[in-house]
Amino acid sequence: MRCLGCDVLKIARFEFRGNVAYGLVDPGRGEIRELAGPPFEGIRETGSVRPLADVRLLAPAVPSKIVAIGLIYKDHAREMRMVIPEEPQIFLKAPSALNDPGGDVVYPRASRRVDHEAELAVVIGRKAKDVAARDARSVILGYTCMNDVTARDLQAKDVQYARSKGFDTFAPLGPWIETDLDPSALRIRCLVNGQVRQDSNTREMSASVFSLVEHISRVMTLHPGDVIATGTPPGVGPVTVGDVMTVEIEGIGSLTNRVVAP
Ligand code: MG
Repeated sequence: MRCLGCDVLKIARFEFRGNVAYGLVDPGRGEIRELAGPPFEGIRETGSVRPLADVRLLAPAVPSKIVAIGLIYKDHAREMRMVIPEEPQIFLKAPSALNDPGGDVVYPRASRRVDHEAELAVVIGRKAKDVAARDARSVILGYTCMNDVTARDLQAKDVQYARSKGFDTFAPLGPWIETDLDPSALRIRCLVNGQVRQDSNTREMSASVFSLVEHISRVMTLHPGDVIATGTPPGVGPVTVGDVMTVEIEGIGSLTNRVVAP
């Protein structure tokens, strides 16, 4: 739904009576307008409109890969008494960890310490290889929230992050993709059971979203729907079974997930 006087779309993926589709969310009217296909090749509405309350929102993208960024927030580095790496550190988070808005995050039996990590997520809209930062905007579909859930004890124990960040359900994404958002100065927070745990701003990032696209696309081809999780601000900490985690990003919305027992 194009809002009056601006060009911003809220692109969601949803399930209604067993059917999965993409749609445009209009929170003001409490409606979702179904799209004829994935949003990457153009926005075409089917004409079908549903009340938001009647649908179940899904992760708004189905990535072939989730590229995540290590220590990048300057305030987080100060908190940790660590130095920001000279080049952004990237790692892969398993696409099978993808989770929906409202989906349960399963606390793994193998871990005794699971942390929340609120992150701004970039959703790629066009195939991208060797894209200069100045051109990055043209390959980005938009932005959403991610919780880079991490088994901190296993991260410390393993050399690689595949296990600690790769458990099923450890990549909640959503609630929708906000297009045409300026990612350079957005408030980002994480609340656990309503209490603020992380509260920062993307202006604390030591590298811009656009330079991250350049850095990553020099290594690997990014495909439509791929997600870049752009690192977390200070205040990461543990959650326990029953906790409710909410990632909130200015201009996007909020992503809430409950932690459940295995
Ligand atoms: Mg992270």
